[in-house]
Amino acid sequence: APQKLAAGNWKMNGTLASLAEIDRLIADHPTPGCDVLICPPATLIHAMAARAGTALAVGGQDCHAKASGAHTGDIAAAELKDAGASHVILGHSERRTDHHETDAEVLAKSQAAHEAGLIAVICVGETEAQRDAGQTLDVIAAQLAGSVPDGARAANTVIAYEPVWAIGTGRTPTNDQIAEVHARMRALLTARFADGADMALLYGGSVKPGNAAEIFAIPHVNGALVGGASLKAVDFGPIVAAL
Ligand code: 13P
Repeated sequence: APQKLAAGNWKMNGTLASLAEIDRLIADHPTPGCDVLICPPATLIHAMAARAGTALAVGGQDCHAKASGAHTGDIAAAELKDAGASHVILGHSERRTDHHETDAEVLAKSQAAHEAGLIAVICVGETEAQRDAGQTLDVIAAQLAGSVPDGARAANTVIAYEPVWAIGTGRTPTNDQIAEVHARMRALLTARFADGADMALLYGGSVKPGNAAEIFAIPHVNGALVGGASLKAVDFGPIVAAL
């Protein structure tokens, strides 16, 4: 069975003072029955990893596809690993929008992450217009086919389904809509990968303490990728506990 994962994406939020939230999270949930991951801004990865020890995993929010070189402002996967990261979020819709990342680029970044020994948290999700047009399952299938490399295994890859219209909006799909997408993702991954049945599938988009338990009860939902509600231990702690 997939390993459960409660993942927090801090996006472009957090300073050294924010690490106090990690202390609270660890103190409140010392022995969770799942993996807990926080992906802070890159500036905080090293300090957070040092502070958290083995109590939680720390990840990046992006990496470059190349191992090193003249790429000002970018970060290599091996550099994330060196700073203490074990995971990296790739293909988040905000990067696909803000930085025009394509499926091919996400695939190349995922390969780089795997080569560096990082677990790639690869994001997919439809826009509201695509859902309204009845294209959701086709969009997800195309993103999985184009963004997930052949070298993906349950041990090095997590898939996050994040409907673009549910991110930061307070709106979530119905449980049936989440179930439909997750069942399709499981079928596609199982058909393509020998251990696709064991790949963790996360739901992301307006997950909160109040809706986490019912979302975690949906078949093939193995955890969550949480944005706003991951910033404070008082919100993220109950989500971790619900998993
Ligand atoms: P919110 O939880 O703030 O909707 O963000 C979801 C997300 O984008 C996590 O990567």
